[in-house]
Amino acid sequence: MSFPNNIYGRFVTVLFFLGIVFVGFSDVAFAETWNTKKSDHFIIQYRDGIETSWASAVLRKAEYYYDRIAQEVGYSRYNKFWTWDKRVQIVVYTDANDFAQHTNQPGWAGGGAIRHRKLSAIITYKHEEGFMDGLLPHEISHLILKDFIGRSHPIPLWFDEGVAQLQEEGKKEKARVFMRQMVKGDKYIPFRSLFNHDIRREKDVNKAAVFYIQSVSIVDFLISRYGSENFRELCGFLKEGLSFEQALDKAYSSTIDSVDDLQKKWVSYMKF
Ligand SMILES: [Zn+2]
Repeated sequence: MSFPNNIYGRFVTVLFFLGIVFVGFSDVAFAETWNTKKSDHFIIQYRDGIETSWASAVLRKAEYYYDRIAQEVGYSRYNKFWTWDKRVQIVVYTDANDFAQHTNQPGWAGGGAIRHRKLSAIITYKHEEGFMDGLLPHEISHLILKDFIGRSHPIPLWFDEGVAQLQEEGKKEKARVFMRQMVKGDKYIPFRSLFNHDIRREKDVNKAAVFYIQSVSIVDFLISRYGSENFRELCGFLKEGLSFEQALDKAYSSTIDSVDDLQKKWVSYMKF
């Protein structure tokens, strides 16, 4: 089957694994053949030479994450997106070179998600380390949040990255250890600056790392400490277009007073 050309508009938004960047994809003529497999919400297109069993395993994992993430943010209650012609495409190149050559992305990027008009796709290449339990759920999370919360309202960047990283195997545990140290040394980012920080403009790698790790730590804290129901309500209010502070106020009215109060409670949780 030939590759769907509409995926390559002149400019598409690429949500990369470690950040969100704007990248211009050039129109590429695809002469090669692609193998295809479908599940309820995904279509995987993969190069010749990649085993069908591996492609099937990717689809099974993708469906598992879809259910898990959708439930976490309350998506499944309201919508039945991503079925039939709206299925998300997972495009898998042979290796880092093949990927770099055809997407103009560096091979170390590992892949990313694109949304272009009605098309959603995860573009990557076959790699084992950090793919099935890392990049795949991370990017599925970005696409679900975009569809569920971000259709007409921007999603706070830290929140988007926090939820996405929460899906990565072992990430929240690492974040807990790291942030405890940062809190002890009083080196965390004050919430009000974290919430307004445009990470896409951050040049300092260390600051960017803290931004990501602290973001997942706060999302983890909200769910672990106050439960899934409140968190789904928070997502619902964000979907309605409320700012994070307003949504927090409504979803946690009896427990958290404000962003400052959230920070105070998170800090004492981290010190515990
Ligand atoms: Zn991300």
